[in-house]
Amino acid sequence: MIPERSRVEVMLSAETIQDRVAELGAQISRDYAGRDLTLIGILKGSVPFLSDLMRHITVPVQIDFLEVSSYGGAMESSGIVRLVKDLSHPIHGKDVLIVEDIVDTGLTLTYLIELLTAQDPASTGIASLLDKPSGRTEGADLDVDYVGFTIPNAFVVGYGLDLGGYFRNLPFVGIYTPPEE
Ligand code: 5GP
Repeated sequence: MIPERSRVEVMLSAETIQDRVAELGAQISRDYAGRDLTLIGILKGSVPFLSDLMRHITVPVQIDFLEVSSYGGAMESSGIVRLVKDLSHPIHGKDVLIVEDIVDTGLTLTYLIELLTAQDPASTGIASLLDKPSGRTEGADLDVDYVGFTIPNAFVVGYGLDLGGYFRNLPFVGIYTPPEE
């Protein structure tokens, strides 16, 4: 079933997101000055964030993608992370920055950091548009280097975040309220 757009209430407007993404891009450019950077977007949720963020980064940038699945279309994580698509290029000796849509339990990023570290990059960093610290179970000490917004423990959609594959195209982030049974 296609979820209803009218059930989404705006939490972060498109303008608020764009301003913050520009700030993050400037900060990343300062922090990586003199180096070149590989952004690793986590499909599919990071697509709008990665695409906007990379245009605010002024150091040389390459991009690659990983795809993982943990939610399986539901509103709660299955607790199991599965690698669906691997990187296209080796990252040995590279400065890599994982670009993620949201950190909730921390399970996905804990798994990804382990996966990437095994390939011996020069450094690994994490940029996440959203952080829900209250959801953290796994990797409670997970170090998220760049956070766009810290949000309360609600299920959000838009700007890459989906419900059953829908809503990724919304230019804002909003809270989805399911219909009563
Ligand atoms: P974690 O492994 O940290 O629990 O969750 C990370 C992944 O779960 C995110 O990349 C995202 O796909 C999904 N996720 C977590 N919270 C939300 C949410 O509020 N809304 C949506 N649409 N996905 C979420």
